[in-house]
Amino acid sequence: MTIMNDLACTLANMMCAGSVEQTLSFALASLLTLTHPQWVCFLLWDADLKRYIIGETWLHDAESRHPAALRRLVLGQANTAYLSDPHTPRWLGTNGWYHPLNAKGTHVGALCLGIDQIPREAQQPYDLLVRSLSQTLYTNARLEEAERERAELESDRERLEQLLRAVEDQQRTIDHLLVAERQLSASLEAKVEERTAALRAAQNRLIQSEKLAVIGQLASSLAHELNNPLQAIESGLGLVMTQLNGAAPEVRADLTIIRQELERIQTIFRQMLDFYRPVSHEHLPLDVNAICEGVRILMRKRLHDAGISLRLQLTDHLPTPCGDSNQIKQVLLNLMLNAAEAARREAAHIQLTTAAQDQTVIITLADNGAGISPEHLPRLFEPLFTTKMRGLGLGLAISREIIERHGGSIGVESVLGAGTTFQIKLPVKEVCDRE
Ligand code: ADP
Repeated sequence: MTIMNDLACTLANMMCAGSVEQTLSFALASLLTLTHPQWVCFLLWDADLKRYIIGETWLHDAESRHPAALRRLVLGQANTAYLSDPHTPRWLGTNGWYHPLNAKGTHVGALCLGIDQIPREAQQPYDLLVRSLSQTLYTNARLEEAERERAELESDRERLEQLLRAVEDQQRTIDHLLVAERQLSASLEAKVEERTAALRAAQNRLIQSEKLAVIGQLASSLAHELNNPLQAIESGLGLVMTQLNGAAPEVRADLTIIRQELERIQTIFRQMLDFYRPVSHEHLPLDVNAICEGVRILMRKRLHDAGISLRLQLTDHLPTPCGDSNQIKQVLLNLMLNAAEAARREAAHIQLTTAAQDQTVIITLADNGAGISPEHLPRLFEPLFTTKMRGLGLGLAISREIIERHGGSIGVESVLGAGTTFQIKLPVKEVCDRE
């Protein structure tokens, strides 16, 4: 009864033991009490190496054998015994008892005892001890395996987290690159559009310049060929009118119309010749306000007869652009004549304004005339574009040519039925050098 009590105590301790070494120590204590062996070896099974390793040894050897020699001997015999049969307990050649420890189909070790036989009264507690030992070693092995797996999983998790962080970093870099690439392609597209528009404008300008050159050449040769006969007709006409001297008033009226038409032909030739003028022109400081005053004097009578009021709003102390004052005057006269033609209505008025802004002199000419329809606006500065029965369509083309030769620009805004505003911008220069 005492043996069973001690055994129960040992088994309980074994089950609660924290390590394999403690388990084996408790088992050894019980074995010594139960079987009184000469020696005891606990062999643990290493599943990876597929062989036994020594777990715990006790030696009380009357033959004074060396413990290391005994251990080697037992290990060799037990490994051989396992290979032939890992389930059946049996006697080995060393006078030792080989007892494989299996639990739930798994081999966990072996118990080797230096005894002749197990005493009959100890058989039952011995079996109990072996079963409990097998079960405890099996549980320990499972626990160790689980701990190893947990450690492996933990290191896998850490590795995955590192990978994830690296992928996130790369994703962020890719996102930045994508944003930069999108910005770059947007700005490239904008630049391409800008350049295409500039190219198209340059192309149009080239076509128009070629048109102007052709017209100029045509005008100069026509003027050359037709000027002499025209002058002869005009002086002959003058002679006939003098000879009539008040007689035949109907014939005189017809002749007057013929003379007016001749003058018109000469005006057309003059305007066309303007295109063929040499590119060089004066390059002197321009008094823009004085040019505007000059235009007012030239237009005064015509505007007065047409019942159109003209208001000048000139800014004092304007800076001076450089150029040819006669050409700028010609531009303003062109604009003024068009405005006067468009402003044939009640309370018609034209306003001519000068101003300065950011090294630029701005001349604005506004009328409250008929206005220009939106589909005509883009073609306004094209040579030969006209909406007038007797128009030539050269005034605005010449004007733009002149202003651009001065390094400036001319623009127009118009509302049909409400009026039109032309704006000329001329750059200001400190010294009027010819470029
Ligand atoms: P033209 O006077 O011989 O027609 P222009 O080149 O001077 O040639 O003018 C071109 C066209 O621009 C005109 O036929 C007219 O339709 C329009 N235009 C110019 N200025 C005005 C204006 N102030 N108001 C309305 N239409 C205008």
